[in-house]
Amino acid sequence: MTRVLVAGAGFSGAVLARSLAESGFDCLVVDERSHVAGNCHTSEDADTGILIHRYGPHIFHTDDEDIWNFVRRFGEWLPYRHSVHATVKGRVFNLPINLLTINQFFHTAMTPEEAKAFVAKRCVTNANPANFQEQALAMVGQELYEAFFCHYTAKQWGVEAEHLPASILKRLPMRFSYDSNYFHHRQQAMPRHGYTEVVEAMLAHPRIELRLGVAAENLSEMFAHTFYTGGIDRYFGYSLGRLGYRSLRFEEIRVRGDALGCPVMNFPDAELAWTRMTEHRHLSPWRKPRSDVSVVWKEFPEAAGPNSPMFYPLRLARDEQLLESYVALARNQTGLTFLGRLGCYAYIDMDAAVRRSLDTATIAAQALRAGASPPVFVHDPLAKA
Ligand code: UDP
Repeated sequence: MTRVLVAGAGFSGAVLARSLAESGFDCLVVDERSHVAGNCHTSEDADTGILIHRYGPHIFHTDDEDIWNFVRRFGEWLPYRHSVHATVKGRVFNLPINLLTINQFFHTAMTPEEAKAFVAKRCVTNANPANFQEQALAMVGQELYEAFFCHYTAKQWGVEAEHLPASILKRLPMRFSYDSNYFHHRQQAMPRHGYTEVVEAMLAHPRIELRLGVAAENLSEMFAHTFYTGGIDRYFGYSLGRLGYRSLRFEEIRVRGDALGCPVMNFPDAELAWTRMTEHRHLSPWRKPRSDVSVVWKEFPEAAGPNSPMFYPLRLARDEQLLESYVALARNQTGLTFLGRLGCYAYIDMDAAVRRSLDTATIAAQALRAGASPPVFVHDPLAKA
C-alpha cells in the first residue's frame, strides 16, 4: 500500500489528493488551519447568513474544459458574472478599462476606432516592457495609468510600479467595446454553497484521511512521498531568509440596504489606505437575504509578518534571487514535490492551481507506480510568466 502525505488542504492540495486517491493511492492530508480550502475559504456570517469569502473575493473562471469538468463534480456551480467598479476622485467608473470608462473619463463619445486612435496617441510605445509601469504606459497612456493603476498598485504591493513585474498587469484586459465583464473566460461560476463545501467534497474519499489543526512539520509518520503546498522558504526553516509576500487586513462594516451596488468597488486614489471594498452578498446573488443588513469588507494591503496569512508573492528582484537559492536546495531533495501558490511562489488563479495539481497527480502517479520518485517540481517556479 502506497501512502503519501499532502501538506495543505487548499485547492492545490485537495485537487491533488482527490486525483491521487482516485488513482489508488492513500493520502493523509493535513492543514494547520481549522478549515479546508486555504484562502478560498467561505463560511456563513452568523447573524445575516451571508456567505463570506473569508480571505477576500475569489471568483472561479477558466477556459479549460478539463478543469471545469473536474471542479463541477464536487458541488453545484452557478453562472456568475463578476462586476467591478472604481471610485476615482469622486467619480465612479466601470472596470476593466473599456469604452465606457474611456468615454466617461475623458468626457467624450468616441467610437471604438476613435478611442483606439485616441489612446494609442497617449501610449508610450515599448516593444519590451520591463516592468509594470512600462507595461501600463504602453497599454493605457499616462492619464489612465495615473488614475487607475499607479496608486492602486503602490498600495497593493507596497512598492512603486516600476519595481514590479509587467506580468501582473497582463491579468487585466483593456477593451474598446462596452463589454465590462471582468473576466473573458468561457466558464465563470461560483459554487452555490461556497468553496469550502466544494473542497470538503473533494476530500470526502475513502482513501483520504484529513487532519485539521496539524502542521506537516510535526508529523513523525513515514510516507512514500510528500507533496508540500506550504511556503518553499518555510519548508527549509527560512534558512536562507524569508520570501516577500503581501498580506491583507480586512475591516468589516455592516450597513442597512445595499452599500456598493456591485460585489467589488476599487479605490485607486492615493489618499485612501484601502484598495477595494467587497460587498459579500453580491458574490452570491442567488441567496435570499435573511435581513437587510449587508456585510462589507474594506481591504488594506500590508507587508506579511511572520504570522500573517500569505496572499500575494511579491517577487521583487531580491525575492527572485532567494527563490533561485531555495529551488536549488529543493532540487537536491527526493521524496518531495512542491506545488501551489506558496510551494512554487507563484501568483496563480484558482483554475491554474487546479491545472497544476491535475498535472502533478498524473506525473506523480506514473512515477510512484514505476517505483520512482516524482519530480520536485512539475511546474518550474523559475520559468518566466
Ligand atoms: N490593479 C490596479 N488597479 C485596479 C485593479 C488592479 O492597478 O483597479 C493592478 C494591481 O497592481 C493589482 C493587479 O492589477 O495587483 C491585478 O489585479 P486583480 O484584480 O487581478 O487582483 P486580485 O484580485 O488578484 O487581487
